[in-house]
Amino acid sequence: MRSSATVVIIGAGVMGASVACHLALRGCTDVVVLEQFESEVQGSTARSAAGVRHQFSHELNVRLSQYGIARYKNFQGEIGADSGLHQVGYLFLINDEANWNGYREATRMQQALGVRTRLLAPAEIDAIVPDVVHADLIGATYNPDDGFCDPHSVAMGYLARARALGVTVERNAQVRGITHQSGRIVSLDTAQGSISCDTVVNCAGSWAGAVAALAGLEVPILPYRRNVYVTQPTSIIPGQMPLTIDVGTGFWMRKEHDSLIMGLSNPTEPAGYNIAVDWAWLDTVLDAGFARFPRLGDVTLAEKQCWAGCYEITPDHMPILGRHPELPSFINAAGFSGHGIMHAPATGLLMAEEILDGHAHSFDIDPLRIERYRSGSIFERNII
Ligand SMILES: Cc1cc2nc3c(=O)[nH]c(=O)nc-3n(C[C@H](O)[C@H](O)[C@H](O)COP(=O)(O)OP(=O)(O)OC[C@H]3O[C@@H](n4cnc5c(N)ncnc54)[C@H](O)[C@@H]3O)c2cc1C
Repeated sequence: MRSSATVVIIGAGVMGASVACHLALRGCTDVVVLEQFESEVQGSTARSAAGVRHQFSHELNVRLSQYGIARYKNFQGEIGADSGLHQVGYLFLINDEANWNGYREATRMQQALGVRTRLLAPAEIDAIVPDVVHADLIGATYNPDDGFCDPHSVAMGYLARARALGVTVERNAQVRGITHQSGRIVSLDTAQGSISCDTVVNCAGSWAGAVAALAGLEVPILPYRRNVYVTQPTSIIPGQMPLTIDVGTGFWMRKEHDSLIMGLSNPTEPAGYNIAVDWAWLDTVLDAGFARFPRLGDVTLAEKQCWAGCYEITPDHMPILGRHPELPSFINAAGFSGHGIMHAPATGLLMAEEILDGHAHSFDIDPLRIERYRSGSIFERNII
């Protein structure tokens, strides 16, 4: 392995890939990406549900999504790979007054930004997804421009472009130690030897808190398991279906080819890196699913295709971006708490600016800097 680089990126998931590619596109190619596993894109990026949506309650999240979805629309032309974008929409089903008020307010804010989210009365839902129980629903929000993409293809596309421009990716290169002195990185100790650099970017996903700790920094990002249950092919929902979320329970479901994939977060599960499917949680998920989609009772589970991965969660479910105040040559780009795929293009752009221009400027990321935890943080309400 090379013994020095201008920038070292820790982690070859979608964030590391996007940051590497954006640096290289701006001419900064003396970049090494270090990946602990024997191949790239094996972490959360490969285990995602792949949803992309504009429907957030915080304006900055909407703007980051607008940017990301526009990039995925033109990914072939801009990066040279297929993003697998399918704009099948996102549909949020709402059955209580407090949430309805919040979603109505968020819809107004999104519309003011030019986003095509609209409110639906319960009777209008049938035209979008058939056989939904809507007797208890107050309404729904729907955006036809949301959907899902192919995160593996996106990340591999960014990496291929970065490599073609001169970036190096080192596999089996787990970072085990980070030494620094007087605010400068001295070296990173890895399974492939040591490397020195001017700037380190922490793109280690659900390991990002542990990676920051190697440099003696406290970055509050913890792994929490999320399960995705997959059915055998079924025709209960013909045609395309938006990713549909039952806001009251948190149950979500979308189509993947002719199968359905679904999930529901377990709020009582403690933090920990565990990617074995939680079969004990399945009954709770199915109970919530049957209550909203009774025809799920006609469908068989494809046990071998179910999977689990980890969300990388921060205290306010928002990422931690930018230079660390105690070590400015250490940059965090992690903690996306379940929406990293859709925000990866903007993150690459912004982190390249942070490194090359001294400060990210295409979007104001001050609300996402780690300093926010000293002053009271923003909180995104539309979390799945
Ligand atoms: C079940 C599930 C569903 C999801 N659904 C969605 C969704 O619908 N939409 C959405 O936008 N997001 C979703 N997400 C979240 C999304 O997948 C993540 O936010 C995103 O993949 C984070 O990318 P990353 O590159 O930061 O992390 P990762 O893809 O985990 O990459 C981090 C990389 O760092 C490497 N690494 C860690 N430590 C070290 C070390 N010490 N040395 C070297 N390398 C190291 C890891 O091996 C890994 O390859 C979901 C996640 C899960 C688990």
